[in-house]
Amino acid sequence: KPEIWGQKDHRINRHLVSHNAIRVCETLQDKGFKAFVVGGAVRDLLLGMRPKDFDVATDASPEQVQRLFRRARIIGRRFQIVHVMFGPETIEVSTFRALASASSETDEHGRVLRDNEFGKQDEDATRRDFTVNAMYYDPRTETVWDYHHGMKDLRAKTLRMIGEPSQRYREDPVRMLRSVRFAAKLNFTVEPSTYAPISSLSDLLTNVPAARLFDEMLKLLTSGSALACLKGLRNAGLHGGVFPLLDAILSDERGEKFVEEALSRTDARIKEGKPISPGFLFACLLWHLVLENWERRLAKGEVKFPALYAAMDEVLAEQAERTAIPRRLTGDMREIWSFQPRFEKRTGKAPFRMLEQQKFRAALDFLELRALVGDAELELAEWWRRFSDLEPQNRQQLIDSLR
Ligand code: ATP
Ligand code: MG
Repeated sequence: KPEIWGQKDHRINRHLVSHNAIRVCETLQDKGFKAFVVGGAVRDLLLGMRPKDFDVATDASPEQVQRLFRRARIIGRRFQIVHVMFGPETIEVSTFRALASASSETDEHGRVLRDNEFGKQDEDATRRDFTVNAMYYDPRTETVWDYHHGMKDLRAKTLRMIGEPSQRYREDPVRMLRSVRFAAKLNFTVEPSTYAPISSLSDLLTNVPAARLFDEMLKLLTSGSALACLKGLRNAGLHGGVFPLLDAILSDERGEKFVEEALSRTDARIKEGKPISPGFLFACLLWHLVLENWERRLAKGEVKFPALYAAMDEVLAEQAERTAIPRRLTGDMREIWSFQPRFEKRTGKAPFRMLEQQKFRAALDFLELRALVGDAELELAEWWRRFSDLEPQNRQQLIDSLR
């Protein structure tokens, strides 16, 4: 049975709650269903932060939800949810689900493959990961329903797994990464028995599908606390061999400075609410591997550009085995990388052709970052910045002045 907190206890600022999420809850409630804002949005509201997206949980079935809204789509096969769309905002509505039980289908390591059984609200709370992620907010009565003492943990800044932690990690090893991410992002302490099993279970991550690992990796890197997350992963023992991308990032001293610079810039941009480009970010993370591979090829006498392309292919292929970087990103990454030696040619028509390329801005930002850590000439980066900032009619003059 839940603890139910009123407005004077939880002090959620209604202005931070999406009108569309309120509308979804009230529409469902008017039809006699239960409906609550749930999960990370409630956690963020209780911390006084504006949630980046809103999830709603209900006892209505996906079909019943879909029928109540004009623009609603049922998504997913294994785990059906309904996307209810209002202009740019999408509210994710999911039906209360039962726990993974002994009868759930799992792989040989205990990872749950199917959990789409509908259930009651208390079961829905118990199958969630952390106590602070398992609270329900009813915007009409302005009450918070708390089944696992999440409010107490939230006030103590404690991240605590619901249930028996090692079993929950076996069911879904990605929860180990979520522990580290939330602790870093929220500046919470992971409760000792939640933290303890992680280092010995880290190998379980190798059974997680590569696409899911990529998604989680992207969430870590765009959490606004990417540097803290990476340090947290290292401390928790979640990098060795399991996560080649992480090994790559953490192992090389020469790369480390570059990556730290890239991540601290990314963190700053995210905290200012500015957009970031995942392609640029991943290009930064893997750059020193490409550079090393390329230099090895050049030393063997291979030709400059073909050697670079071969190096890019090899590095991306290695990563693809464990972390499926989507093709739209690898395309951006290749473009940004292949621009780097092209910046060296500053005569004739070449600089003008560079300006016309779609990824020119990103590639120049990348060059500046390299210059910042001493991996490229500062003069070169500054020249290109000046060249691109000039009025078009003055650019030829800058090229001529180089001679
Ligand atoms: P954020 O969106 O800020 O990363 P969140 O808590 O909203 O954080 P989501 O991944 O959006 O995280 O998930 C929404 C909710 O679904 C969570 O708060 C949690 O209750 C539940 N959940 C998500 N992933 C898992 C998981 N792997 N195991 C158990 N519950 C989960
Ligand atoms: Mg969320």
